[in-house]
Formats: sequence, C-alpha cells, structure tokens
Amino acid sequence: MPEEIIYLGFGSNLGDRQEFCDRAIALMNLLPLSRVTGVSSYYETEPVDPEGRLGESWFYNGVVRVESSLSPTRLLGILQETERALGREDTDRHGPRTIDFDILLFGQHCIDQPGLTVPHPRLHQRRFVLEPLVELDPALKHPTLHRSMSELLEAIQDPSRVNKLDIKPGSKYRSRLACSVPPLS
Ligand code: ADP
Ligand code: MG
Repeated sequence: MPEEIIYLGFGSNLGDRQEFCDRAIALMNLLPLSRVTGVSSYYETEPVDPEGRLGESWFYNGVVRVESSLSPTRLLGILQETERALGREDTDRHGPRTIDFDILLFGQHCIDQPGLTVPHPRLHQRRFVLEPLVELDPALKHPTLHRSMSELLEAIQDPSRVNKLDIKPGSKYRSRLACSVPPLS
C-alpha cells in the first residue's frame, strides 16, 4: 500500500482516562509500517448519547495523525485488538469504554465495506472530533463534504461541551527507554 495520512480518534470514559489515552498513544507509536506525526491535546467532553448508554461519565478524547502503509482493514483489526488489550469489553459495545478508536480519515479515500466506513460517518457532527482535528490540521479537507475541518467546526450544531485540557498527551510513557544495549565490559 502507498503511504497515507490517517487521522484516528480515540476516547475513554471508564477508569483512569488519562492513563488509557496515554497507553493508546504509546501503542499507536508501535503500529507496524507507520509513524505518528501528530497528537492533539486531550479534551474532556460531555458524552454525546441520546439513548444514555454511555453513562454519565465524561470522556477524554483526542486525535492522532499517523502516516502509514497499512491497509484500512489491517489497521482496523489492529485497533480492535488494541481496544481489547486495553480492557474494552465486547459484551457491551455501546456502554462506557476504557478505550475507543475510530478511523476518521484515511487519506482522501472513501471506504464503505461491512464494518468500516471512512470518512467516519459522524465526524462532521461531533464537536469532540472536530476540535482536535482543527487543532492538528485546520485546512484539512473532508473528502466528500469538500469543506475544511475549521469550516465544519464553525457550522456544527452539536451543543455538547468540550474543554481542552492543559496536560501533555502521552506524558506517562514518552520518556521510557524501549531497550538499551548493556555497556561493554
Ligand atoms: P462508536 O465509535 O461510533 O461509538 P463503536 O466503536 O462501538 O462505535 O463501534 C465499532 C464498530 O464500528 C466496529 O464494529 C467497526 O467495525 C465499525 N466501524 C465502522 N466504521 C468505522 C471506522 N471508520 N472506525 C472504526 N470503527 C468503524
Ligand atoms: Mg469506535
């Protein structure tokens, strides 16, 4: 696959939300055939959930930009494995979640296959997605709506509250050494 610029949304509203988001970012840095080239701030966001299944607890949300040669299906499979590894329960997919990943944009591709729709169909309706996307790339164009992320944010109707947090994303794991060679004696 040729390399593409991919935007991944992540969110957590269960347990230590900062810890889960930091771990999610650390794991995104380990994706094969990929490199993370941008991470938004964390945003604390009101659950957007007309049916009330997500619970009362506010989310931490953010967006990661990844340059990758993975196929969309392979990437989705790895994200779903990572969700499970971080303790997301499949039994209640719509309930509160330790971590949720969404493929928001995959280059300018439009994908419509069972289990994968890109651009993410609710991207342009969600303040908690557009605010971090605008922070990363305000001029980025939506492949089918043909408007930039900042234009989409200006036009949004979503009344839910989204507060940018003043903490460094990924800070709990960033400085950990992956591996070191013992000194020669
Ligand atoms: P949401 O993120 O809207 O709360 P879930 O994470 O519970 O929804 O839903 C995950 C399901 O959505 C998975 O079965 C996955 O196959 C499907 N899906 C469709 N398009 C995408 C996408 N662009 N990114 C992530 N999951 C997607
Ligand atoms: Mg999801």
